[in-house]
This record gives sequence, C-alpha cells and structure tokens, in this order.
Amino acid sequence: MTTLALHVSPTAVSKDLALRRTLLKQQWRQQLADLTDLSYEALAPIDEDADDGSEANGRHVTRQLLTAARQQLADTEAALGRLDDGSYGLCGDCSNPINAERLEILPAARYCIACQATRSRRR
Ligand SMILES: [Zn+2]
Repeated sequence: MTTLALHVSPTAVSKDLALRRTLLKQQWRQQLADLTDLSYEALAPIDEDADDGSEANGRHVTRQLLTAARQQLADTEAALGRLDDGSYGLCGDCSNPINAERLEILPAARYCIACQATRSRRR
C-alpha cells in the first residue's frame, strides 16, 4: 500500500465539512420521511380477510424496517452532533481519523474500519 501525502488547506477542510453537513441534513430529512411513511404503514388497520400469514409477516418486516430506520436517523443525528462539537471524522474508539472514502460512502460512520470490524466480531 502506498501512503499519499495530503496537502489539504484548512479552507478545503472546512468546505468539505460544510458539504458533509449539507449532505447529512439531506440524509436526515429523507430518513425522517422514510420513518414517517413506515410509521403510518405500521399503524394501518389489519386486513382481517388476508388471514394467510402474509399480513403478520408484512407487519414483522415493517417493524424491522422501522427499527432500522430509527437507528439510521439516530446515527445521522449523532454525526451532525459530532460536526458541531468538532469530533466528526474521528473514530469513536481509537480517535484516529476515519478513512475519507469510508466517510464518503457512510457519512454517519462513527468508527474506523478496523474498530468497526472488531465491534462486528464482538456481536
Ligand atoms: Zn478506530
């Protein structure tokens, strides 16, 4: 692996963080809309005629999606909080900078790849 020396000016970093904040806010709005849709779906009246198990199965899937949507929204809110307190982009475990490509793909990432892998193995 080659190590590239990065010559990033503080202005470029703050522009990058401003862009990141805009993207996270867009993501937050979309996730909130998804969560709202799923909540309505979960509250919809049960179809008594469809008693073949598909109704219960659909409810189960909706509840799982709802749980995942709540978690994604919380992760995005936490990332916006880290932008505010200046800890955005630093791993929550080892405090090393999180790989820029990882943040590009997962703007709300809390941990670097190595720490995330360790956490995933522990589960
Ligand atoms: Zn780490």
